[in-house]
Amino acid sequence: MHWKELKAELLAVGSAHLTGEPADEYIARSAAGPGAGGAGSVFFAVGTHRVKFGLNPKSSIEIIHRGGGIADVYYGEHLISGKLLQPGCHCPDQAFITVTGSCIFKCRYCPVPLQGGKRKTIDEIMKMVESVRHRVSAISLTSGVLSSIDEEEDYVLDVVKHLRFFDLPLGVSIYPTDQTPDRLKKLGVTEVKFNLEAATPELFATMCPGLNYDQIWRALDRSVQLFGRGRVFSNVLVGLGETDEDLENCIRKLTAHGVIPVLRPLNPVAGMTGSLRPSADRLNRVFSMHERALAEAKLDARGALTMCTNCAGCDLVPGKDE
Ligand code: SF4
Repeated sequence: MHWKELKAELLAVGSAHLTGEPADEYIARSAAGPGAGGAGSVFFAVGTHRVKFGLNPKSSIEIIHRGGGIADVYYGEHLISGKLLQPGCHCPDQAFITVTGSCIFKCRYCPVPLQGGKRKTIDEIMKMVESVRHRVSAISLTSGVLSSIDEEEDYVLDVVKHLRFFDLPLGVSIYPTDQTPDRLKKLGVTEVKFNLEAATPELFATMCPGLNYDQIWRALDRSVQLFGRGRVFSNVLVGLGETDEDLENCIRKLTAHGVIPVLRPLNPVAGMTGSLRPSADRLNRVFSMHERALAEAKLDARGALTMCTNCAGCDLVPGKDE
C-alpha cells in the first residue's frame, strides 16, 4: 500500500498499543494538540515519513518496540517496520511548547482544562529549549488563554523576546488580536498559525463560543502581507459535521489568500466524545482537495520550518506524505 493511503488508515484509528521493550524516551506527553493530557503519544517513522499515535491499550494497532527505537507496527494484516522518533519537546525536530496549559474558552473539541493547567515561567521555557537544543531545528509556541486574550499575547511576546537567544526559526500559534501579526513580526517570528478550526463560520460559532471567526481571518490576511505566502498556516478540523463541499470551499479560500491549511482529523474528546474520527476514505478525499488547492495557488507545504506542517505527525501533508 502507498504511504499516503496507509497513513490515512493509521490516522483514522489515531492510537496504538505500545508493547515490547521499555520506550519511555520515545513517549511525548503534551498539554496541547491531539492526545493532549492522555497517556502520551509516540511518533513512528518509515524513512522520511512519520505518523503520530496517541497511546491507548485498547487500540487495534499494536506497536512492538524491539529496542533502540526499532519498532514494528501491526495493523490488520499489515506489518510495517520502522522506528520510533525521540520527541524534542512534544514533537521530533522541534521544541514545541505550550506556554499556558489552561484556557478560559471552552471549544467543544478541546481537552485543555478551564483551570488548573500550569503556565510555564520564562525560565522553565528557556531550560526546556536548552535541554533539546542539540536535536531541534526550530522552536514553536502555542498557548491556552489564562485570563484574557490580551494578557496572554503580552506574555507570549515576552517569551518570544527571550527565545530569540537561540537563533532558531520560531513559529507561534495563539488566538490573535488585530495587533498580533504586526507584534510577532516585529519580534522576528518566522511563521504564524491562526486556527480557523471549523470549515464554516456557523460551525465555528457552535464549536468555539466567545471567539471570533472574522478576527482570525483578519489576522491571517495581515500575516500573509507581513510573513509572506506559505509562512502562514491555519488548522481546520475534519469531522466536526462539515460536508466535503464546506471543507473544499474553506481550503480554497485559505490557499487563495496565501495561507497553508492544516487539515486535522478530529480526535473525539472533550465535548466531542461520541463523535467519530474521520474515515480513511474521507481523509484521502480531503488530501486530494488540499493537494490540488495548494498546487493551483503555488503554495508548497514542504517549505514550512515550524509547527504542524513541518512536523506532519498528525495530518496528511501534501508534498510530504506522497
Ligand atoms: S502535527 Fe502538530 S500537533 Fe501533531 S505532533 Fe506535530 S506539532 Fe504536534
